[in-house]
Amino acid sequence: MLNLILFGPPGSGKGTQAARVAEKYNLLHLSTGDMLREELRRESALGKEAKRFIDEGLLVPDEVIIGMISDKIDATSNVVKGYLFDGFPRTQPQAEALDNLLSLKNTQIAGVLALDVSEEEITRRILSRGESSGRSDDRDESIIRNRYQVYQNETAPVANHYKASNRFVLLPGEGSVEAIFNSLSEQIDRLL
Ligand code: ADP
Repeated sequence: MLNLILFGPPGSGKGTQAARVAEKYNLLHLSTGDMLREELRRESALGKEAKRFIDEGLLVPDEVIIGMISDKIDATSNVVKGYLFDGFPRTQPQAEALDNLLSLKNTQIAGVLALDVSEEEITRRILSRGESSGRSDDRDESIIRNRYQVYQNETAPVANHYKASNRFVLLPGEGSVEAIFNSLSEQIDRLL
């Protein structure tokens, strides 16, 4: 299996790039943000619990996220060529849980590809996405700033988990979608 993590702050373009990368390398794209929004749409118990956190720009509790990913891996590991994780792991406990879940399937993370984008550019992108996406957490500048703070405090340190084992690559996340996709592809080809 080939398992990759697309890493970076909210609004760094992970979702856009993940869809392309998953298609090119035949990986299952797992976005915890998309999975949560689907739960919200279905008004499931999990969705209702998650909504309180998402609306504030806070992280959904680790046990909720880990349970959701664990179920998904169990249901698909026999049929996929690998996973592309997007928006996960966002905390140290999530990173450790992912290591354990993958090792139960005799596999591991091959690399973490991080998109580097300035806070200014991120705020601009998310506000413009909010005009069309209908995501309420994309429309309010104070919620966006909150998400960025949470990223700095809780998610950015997760990079160290992968840097320690030389599996972390930082790429420029500003530029055309095509140029960023090409540099991602170049890095992934090195891992194959
Ligand atoms: P973005 O990267 O633009 O913030 P996402 O779609 O990845 O958007 O996430 C939207 C919201 O869903 C986050 O602000 C957070 O509340 C919640 N969320 C998504 N993934 C996770 C995760 N791995 N751990 C905790 N909360 C998460």
